Amino acid sequence: MDDRKTAEAIAAKIAEAGGRAYYVGGCVRDKLLKRPCKDLDIEVYGIPADALETLLSAFGNVLTVGKSFGIFKLEHSSLDIALPRTEEKTGEGHRAFLTSADPYLPPETASSRRDFTVNALMEDVLSGEIHDYHNGLKDLGKGVLRHVNDASFSEDPLRVLRAARFAAQLGFEVAEETRELCRKIDLTSLSRERVEGETEKALLSAEPDRYFEELRKMEQLKDYYAELGNGPFFSEKALALREEAKEPVLYMLGILCSGIAGKQRNTFLHRFLTKKYELKELKNWTYEDLPDKTALFEKLDQLTCPEDYVLVLCALYPEKEKEYRKLGDEWQIFLQQEHITGEDLFKLGYTPGKELGSLLKEIRKKEYTRSKEEILEELKK
Ligand code: ATP
Ligand code: MG
Repeated sequence: MDDRKTAEAIAAKIAEAGGRAYYVGGCVRDKLLKRPCKDLDIEVYGIPADALETLLSAFGNVLTVGKSFGIFKLEHSSLDIALPRTEEKTGEGHRAFLTSADPYLPPETASSRRDFTVNALMEDVLSGEIHDYHNGLKDLGKGVLRHVNDASFSEDPLRVLRAARFAAQLGFEVAEETRELCRKIDLTSLSRERVEGETEKALLSAEPDRYFEELRKMEQLKDYYAELGNGPFFSEKALALREEAKEPVLYMLGILCSGIAGKQRNTFLHRFLTKKYELKELKNWTYEDLPDKTALFEKLDQLTCPEDYVLVLCALYPEKEKEYRKLGDEWQIFLQQEHITGEDLFKLGYTPGKELGSLLKEIRKKEYTRSKEEILEELKK
């Protein structure tokens, strides 16, 4: 059964039991915007957690995310089912909240813990009726991200990055009053993983430049992205080529970094990147035009993701795209070829040892432009 059908069946049972089920959060927003959405978040009113769990178990295996918070997941589906809850700030940091679930909380109160008005919309699962307690529909129409609650918005610094990230994903603007609040929020308690998560989503979004632009307007580039110069960082060409990248995040990070000078580049990346593979690979990427084949092949030989690096060069030097693509293809052919090995050298009378290693390195470079036979012939002499 498709997940919305399952949700409707669940909602019918909930109604029979005297409760009410609503779609909440991103899935309501995305449906109204005619965008695809990954997860269906449902909030259930009027039924206590235990009774809800029993009711849900008729539809499949119920995974309890946090029983005290009243959050359930229906296995093998995209359904997240939760009780309405309130959050109370208990300390520093993004996670320092005391959450209490209460099935009898009024929807208006429950929805006011959400970050933006467009994320606070509710849709009755059975009737399709939209409940809009915070003028989310108006903001959705205008393409504006506006915070819901003056008093609590600043309690979670992740919301600053979320505002900028949603702006990039949806092509929205952050409301001036929300930017004003965001300017005063201290982001330093965020974990690298959180910043990384938002950065990745922004880099994969429709308008990645909006993320950095919004953060600049909020004066919030300082803690994690201080090295960035003035944008835009991504040309149309760069965004088009992203579609071809094997690792789009890596590719986009490469372009983002290309304007930052050597040493600073590493400092920059370490602030929000946790993935060792990406850090290592990006350390090896350089961004000057590499016009000759040997120079380019030598570089590609050090990389784990040479295909994306070639795409980065195409994005940075669009007038040379053809040339780079041709060299990139030649590189792939080169990799398939048979290469000269230690064995070949032994046959020619060379003896094992240190020098053989450096000789093989020399040979590898020659192989970029010359045939195996030709090089072996030369080595005989
Ligand atoms: P997407 O999953 O496409 O990134 P989403 O809107 O579904 O977007 P989630 O992070 O999945 O975002 O969260 C679901 C909903 O929970 C949001 O729409 C919002 O209402 C609420 N929410 C999530 N994180 C926060 C937060 N840090 N502060 C306030 N509300 C939040
Ligand atoms: Mg979601």
